[in-house]
Amino acid sequence: MIRINPHYANLQANYLFADIARRVHAFQQRRPDVELIRLGIGDVTEPLPQACIEALHKAVDEMATTSHFRGYGPEQGYDFLREAIALHDFQERGAEISADEVFVSDGAKCDVANIQELFAADVRVAISDPVYPVYVDTNVMAGRCGAWVDDRYQNLVYLPCSATTGYAPQLPDTPVDVVYLCSPNNPTGATLTRPQLQQWVDYAAANKVLILFDAAYEAFIRDDSLPHSIFEIPGAREVAIEFRSYSKTAGFTGLRCAYTVIPKTCMGRGDDGEPVPLHTLWSRRQTTKFNGVSYPVQRAAEAVYSLSGQQQVRTLSDGYLANAQRIREVFQALGYPCTGGDHSPYIWVRTGIDAWEFFDMLLEESGVVCTPGVGFGRCGQGHVRISAFNSAAQVEAAMQRIHTVLQT
Ligand code: PLP
Repeated sequence: MIRINPHYANLQANYLFADIARRVHAFQQRRPDVELIRLGIGDVTEPLPQACIEALHKAVDEMATTSHFRGYGPEQGYDFLREAIALHDFQERGAEISADEVFVSDGAKCDVANIQELFAADVRVAISDPVYPVYVDTNVMAGRCGAWVDDRYQNLVYLPCSATTGYAPQLPDTPVDVVYLCSPNNPTGATLTRPQLQQWVDYAAANKVLILFDAAYEAFIRDDSLPHSIFEIPGAREVAIEFRSYSKTAGFTGLRCAYTVIPKTCMGRGDDGEPVPLHTLWSRRQTTKFNGVSYPVQRAAEAVYSLSGQQQVRTLSDGYLANAQRIREVFQALGYPCTGGDHSPYIWVRTGIDAWEFFDMLLEESGVVCTPGVGFGRCGQGHVRISAFNSAAQVEAAMQRIHTVLQT
């Protein structure tokens, strides 16, 4: 008999996107005359930067020759990419990270999902509410979250994010071992300031807490005073792991490349209380379970750091940010408080009514699809997430419709 992992039975079915699809389908049946505009998705719409395309072509041609062919690469990534990452994403920003602390992967989703394998089953985990659901579900799969009662897991510590705190998570008031932070945030679009992040690092150091810092959206930060990396914060090398991705930075959602940074000074504890470098554990994990990202894709990621690559990725994120600003401007002018959209492709709109009711109203009356905030956690009730990932023309059309519908 194949007994399944019983913790999978404790996963709550995430009806969010299925529910959205069902409602959209029903609307399309009733109103085939309305052209839908989708501002619900978290996927990019614009093609890859030309510098990446050229690097891909070149690398593919190399693979066609015996002299340049490459088979399995290093599990942690090729040195050319790890060195470019350490230099451009960290050292140039004053963060002391070396190439051998970078682990290249095929996605931040799998890295943030897999990292919890390094921790004991009974570590206490804190997450923001609302939250990127992967942090929660992977800990549920590992049996770490306890029973589901009143829409929450009993052993998880929830950090409510509300308008009163600018949607920033506050320090936990009960002891925890691991905290997931995401900045710029999905879904709220809120970005942690340097003092806020310093407060988290100091808290982590004082309480032997590990911070798992998801910076998948750092490329959207435009204010120089905001940290792109937690390693810009003094003390972070001892208490944090950071996840980055080329998905939103360079349009790699379909190409797949990301990386995780684990400083050699970041320690867990063995049963005897002795420090164990998490870098060593992750290296062991990756070499056992992962065979690296393909050579052409790593060359494409390297091209992001070339002069033309830098200009092209900037143009990409500038385009999405211009959409975000337009969305935010329209909702604010209509009297809806918003966060995000300035350093993030997501705008978190306070609806004043039930999130699903607002979703339905927007769909029925304007043919625009958004994401009800309650799908990201209890504190997302009364909010919707609007995504700036679409063409400028589609965003403009959506905003004109929304303006007409909501202005009364
Ligand atoms: N982290 C956050 C906060 C995300 O929103 C996403 C994707 O939407 C990811 C990680 C996943 O990134 P990747 O495409 O690299 O797996």
